[in-house]
Amino acid sequence: MKNNIAIDGPAGAGKSTIAKKLAADLGYVYVDTGAMYRAFAYYFLSNGIASDDEAAIAKACENVDISIAYVNGEQQVLLNGENVNGVIRNEEVGNMASATSIYPVVRTKLVELQRKLAEKQDVIMDGRDIGTVVLPNANVKIYLTASSAVRAKRRYDELTAKGVECDINEIEKDIIDRDHRDMNREVSPLKQAEDAVLLDSSDLDINGVVERMKEIIREAGK
Ligand code: C5P
Repeated sequence: MKNNIAIDGPAGAGKSTIAKKLAADLGYVYVDTGAMYRAFAYYFLSNGIASDDEAAIAKACENVDISIAYVNGEQQVLLNGENVNGVIRNEEVGNMASATSIYPVVRTKLVELQRKLAEKQDVIMDGRDIGTVVLPNANVKIYLTASSAVRAKRRYDELTAKGVECDINEIEKDIIDRDHRDMNREVSPLKQAEDAVLLDSSDLDINGVVERMKEIIREAGK
């Protein structure tokens, strides 16, 4: 049995930054499941498929193959063999991913891929349903969250550092909408698994969160 660490939580809580660092420190493979939903979303957007057109989405899913590869330890998502890492990290794709991840036809394929990855290696996997659905037997489960104001501020700082003009109130509204959709969908909604440890990162910096996670992992191993 491989060691699996599941990290779930809302958008912008810092899951991927933290999980990446933790995986590098512990020698685990980092699996970013959000990127897989984003790759699907990118396909729908590129093919003019609306997020509420379930029939078209189901049909399109027959033509979509998602796989992952690692380049210098970084996860790359391949959509029908093409590396889409460079085009999936924007708000449009993120919102489309949130709107289309509600469909079982989209989730089934990805959950299968995610479980296969966790079977063959030690992974730190992050997402929304990892502790509850994908890896219910994970050795450690952490639910990482932060207030919507703190998450919006982090996103705002990230975007302005890149020279992107943005409005912090718009960003926070977007985050709250996405949380609401992710937490209230019928299939695999975002929620803390019963056996997950809650970690609020509102008042912690990256190293603080990583250190706290290492403590949680050490405790779980006892
Ligand atoms: O984490 P990230 O922002 O990249 O995820 C994009 C969207 O994909 C989320 O808002 C969520 O709706 C969906 N998602 C999901 N289950 C996961 C990972 C992401 O439904 N395990």
